[in-house]
Amino acid sequence: MTFAIAPHAVPAIPVAGTDMRFPVHRIYCIGRNYADHAKEMGSEVDRVQPIFFNKPADAIVIGDGDVPYPSVTRDLHHEVEMVVALATGGRNIAVEHALEHVYAYAVGLDLTRRDLQAAAKSKGNPWDVAKGFDNSAPVSDLHRASEIGHPQHLQLSLSVNGARRQQTDIGEMIFSVAEIIHELSKLYDLQSGDLIFTGTPAGVAALVRGDRFCAELEGVAVLEGRIV
Ligand code: MN
Repeated sequence: MTFAIAPHAVPAIPVAGTDMRFPVHRIYCIGRNYADHAKEMGSEVDRVQPIFFNKPADAIVIGDGDVPYPSVTRDLHHEVEMVVALATGGRNIAVEHALEHVYAYAVGLDLTRRDLQAAAKSKGNPWDVAKGFDNSAPVSDLHRASEIGHPQHLQLSLSVNGARRQQTDIGEMIFSVAEIIHELSKLYDLQSGDLIFTGTPAGVAALVRGDRFCAELEGVAVLEGRIV
């Protein structure tokens, strides 16, 4: 068998402290997973039914690089999030076994065309063009659970041009990492290589060209970059 065209490169993220890279299969994201962010968006807090959406695997931006300002939007927003990388997957994963599937943790940005998202919401349309665009998922190096454990209470924060914009304790998540994996595995056959963006706290705001951002998962991961 030969491919009709050259096969695409596998998007991959450096694993900190190693010379290995983690190949990305899919990117799942949860919406409204911190009550203060749901409130600032004028949304209800729903502790029963999580909201999920996806980004393409090749939306990742690695290596503290420049992030190009996307087309069509006039309101690019930052959403700082803890990111989870799965070593193994499955269906109908029990909450009490969910963390056994986690390979590593990182910090990332769920970049959002907020103006297009608002327009989609008002019409009941899907969010894809607001969330799943090129370069919409800058992510730090991965830090293995075998090294750092499974963080339950850490500060997650974002500064832009040196000023703090977002900060929370990850313990404030409405659906925990284990609960997110459980819920996703009811909807999808999760796979090794899947990434999960676990939601953002309050303080989302606009990024413009020239802005320098620094996202941090306290003591674990740092992601720095610039909007160009
Ligand atoms: Mn988000």
